[in-house]
Amino acid sequence: MLGGKGAELANLTRLGFPIPPGFTITTEACRHYLRSRDAPPSLWDQVNEAVSVLEQESGLTYGRGPDPLLVSVRSGAAVSMPGMMDTVLNVGVNEEVVERLSATYGEHFALDVHRRFVQMYGAVVLGVSPDALEAVKADARAAGGASRIEDLDPPDARDLITQMISVVEEEAQRAIPPDPIDQLHAAIEAVFRSWESKRSADYRAHHGIPADLGTAVTVMAMVYGNADRHSCSGVLFTRDPATGERRMFGEFLTRSQGEDVVAGIATPEPLQAMAESMPDAFRTLVDIAGRIESHYEDPQDIEFTVQSGRPYILQSREAKRSPRAAVRVAVDMCSEGVLTRDRALLSVPADTIHHLLLPRLNEVEAEAARGNGQLLTTGIGASPGGVSGAVALTADRAVEMAAGGQRVLMVRPETSAEDVHGFFAAAGVLTARGGATSHAAVVARGLGIPCVVGTESIQVRPDLGRITCGDRVIEEGWQLSIDGASGEVFVGALETVEARVDEETHLSELLSWADQRRRLGVRANADTAAEVERAMEFGADGVGLCRTEHMFFEPERLDLVRQMILAANAFARWPGDELNAWRYRQILDRLQAIQAGDFEGILRAARGMPVVIRLLDPPLHEFLPPRDELLNDLHKLRAERASSQEISEREELLSAVEEMREANPMLGLRGCRLGILYPDIFRMQLRALTDAVRALRAAGVPSRPDVMVPLVSDPNEMAEVRRILQETVREVTGPAEDAFSPRIGAMIETPRAALMADAISESAEFFSFGTNDLTQLTYGFSRDDAEGKFLSRYIEKGVLDTDPFQTIDRHGVGGLLMAGLDGIRLSGRDLETGVCGEHGGDPASVEFFSQAGINYVSCSPYRVPVARLAAAQAEVRAAPDR
Ligand code: PEP
Ligand code: MG
Repeated sequence: MLGGKGAELANLTRLGFPIPPGFTITTEACRHYLRSRDAPPSLWDQVNEAVSVLEQESGLTYGRGPDPLLVSVRSGAAVSMPGMMDTVLNVGVNEEVVERLSATYGEHFALDVHRRFVQMYGAVVLGVSPDALEAVKADARAAGGASRIEDLDPPDARDLITQMISVVEEEAQRAIPPDPIDQLHAAIEAVFRSWESKRSADYRAHHGIPADLGTAVTVMAMVYGNADRHSCSGVLFTRDPATGERRMFGEFLTRSQGEDVVAGIATPEPLQAMAESMPDAFRTLVDIAGRIESHYEDPQDIEFTVQSGRPYILQSREAKRSPRAAVRVAVDMCSEGVLTRDRALLSVPADTIHHLLLPRLNEVEAEAARGNGQLLTTGIGASPGGVSGAVALTADRAVEMAAGGQRVLMVRPETSAEDVHGFFAAAGVLTARGGATSHAAVVARGLGIPCVVGTESIQVRPDLGRITCGDRVIEEGWQLSIDGASGEVFVGALETVEARVDEETHLSELLSWADQRRRLGVRANADTAAEVERAMEFGADGVGLCRTEHMFFEPERLDLVRQMILAANAFARWPGDELNAWRYRQILDRLQAIQAGDFEGILRAARGMPVVIRLLDPPLHEFLPPRDELLNDLHKLRAERASSQEISEREELLSAVEEMREANPMLGLRGCRLGILYPDIFRMQLRALTDAVRALRAAGVPSRPDVMVPLVSDPNEMAEVRRILQETVREVTGPAEDAFSPRIGAMIETPRAALMADAISESAEFFSFGTNDLTQLTYGFSRDDAEGKFLSRYIEKGVLDTDPFQTIDRHGVGGLLMAGLDGIRLSGRDLETGVCGEHGGDPASVEFFSQAGINYVSCSPYRVPVARLAAAQAEVRAAPDR
């Protein structure tokens, strides 16, 4: 009811801090005014009464002699909306007051106060355009040869005020009322109305603040930072808001009122300079600020005024801080004994900490770029970090350009498995289509490279060698910069700033506390040894998902994979064709050797931690070239009279592509269905794993791989794949001392699997919920298209609160997950459960999984620290009194 500012000021007054006397009108009064365009019946009587109390407390008289009291009328909603609503200072001035002030405090000061009042009252209450008033001021400053308007000689200042008053009267067709009480009532109503200004409404819409809260109005005795040389106004932070360092940080301006610093009218001095110019006031202020911080146990952002050497606090609120500062403050305040570890853990928003570990765009340059039209468009920030690079419009071009030594930004309409070599070559990825769990987003997050998706206003035209956005054209090779957190895309190369893990000592400390507190395991989704290395560096408890297909996409392997698909296809059709069967086996052997090498690297990098290897998942035709491209190629080869072998190879590929074409590949022949129809592929993968484990054993390196079966929907599917795998285990099992029999688990990614988990558990030794597919299949929303096509508009319209691909839908998808867990419990065996969808790195989802009793989450390596902290926070919230 009192708004943030009013409530804190009341609180600080009670605690004895030097706050000028004042009173606050509730948000309820504002709401009444906004509804009826009239103040609540008793408001003005109460205000007048409160003004008499102010007179008694201050020993001054409101708006008249002998010693005039002036007031400030300030806005302040329950939710902070900095700078959005209005404030009127120096209310209560008229000719008589100016004379009194002049006699007591000097003419200079009295005129300064009068001028400020005319300007603010004119602009805020009477709606005069600030530009018109500024123009008169600029003329006066030039004519009077004064660098600051405060320096005008009294006669010039008087002339200026007269001119300003006539501008106000002309524009508003009204005069400023001479009666101080009329002024006060009108100022209060104007502040009520400022709740409805366009900028306030836009701000609320953007931040999801309800439109009907209304603002409170605080009326306070004026203290004057413009009284004399020993007066100033300013802002201070009790800790450095960028680094978190424990030092007072801020700015002040001598002979000024608060608005001057905010408006940037003159350049303020750094706070430390006050130690020299007003040492006593500085010491007192630092002491007060320190005590306010101790009271709130949280760094503060404080607005102050010093009047003739005496400091007053006008506002104190929680200081906004950078992610880096938040971490440092938490750790420091804990070692200072102010915060317990639990409270320190809760004080850092988990979601923000991965920013500390990523290179990012230089914020000063980005801000300048926003201002000068370099911002091309904004999409969905899918993988954070900032990067600039030369635009490459195909994966092949990305590889070529990177080989030529360029830093490359791969820009695609959307990406598919076909483009994976481009991801390896690129420093960042930008796509026109797709959402936060689209192919581009998932792959980029896994690799830890920045990625922006769903920039629907961009048209990517690889065929024309350029992209267009509205009427702007960017040719291939030109520089773009992306911010994978905000989704912004800039024209030109912006500078980036690197982060180093080993330098983040405060973060390491905070995360070590989180590890002691959390129950939930945190693993990583990692597909290569390099990614596993990174995950271990970020403190992962193992690998919860290794998507084996990603290894197939590397350019030198893709060809072999394509040959395998053709042979597998032929083998399925003509199992008796011995030549083809032999060819199929040869190809599988070669792939086995390659996969064994990869698995060895991955298991070695995991240093004995558990690694969940998922068997091949995507529909096979994802590995084949698109049909149109093949048709074009064939056309060209025929026109060029290429060799008949070349032509027939293409034809064979084309017929395989046509045969495998599916209307809904996401619902098609993928996951365990592949393993059942092409069991040799799963067998080959298990053999490769066995080879890797044996090689590591021989080298004395420990490893703990498990095998996981994707997209199960029926218990019989799981039983069949298990049978195939166990058969292979028996085939490859050597002497007893070299036996290797991995645990075989099931992924729960379809609603049916969740409902049938009890029966599936008969052939599964562990479970992992693939919440990406589970969300897609529960809503029937395509994970590749929904976000770009309609989900963002659903959220704007309030149909959905959040994107279910980013934060788990607790009721629907979460309900299925709970049903799955119940089913698994029914088995009576204590089977391990994990979550390996993208939700594993989202703090709100992590809290849900922790409460649900999941054993571990698995997320992309860069989100591992986020999940570690979020898991600890979930535990602290569940048992808050430790
Ligand atoms: C999932 O569906 O949640 C999952 C982890 O598998 P993928 O994203 O590879 O389909
Ligand atoms: Mg899946």
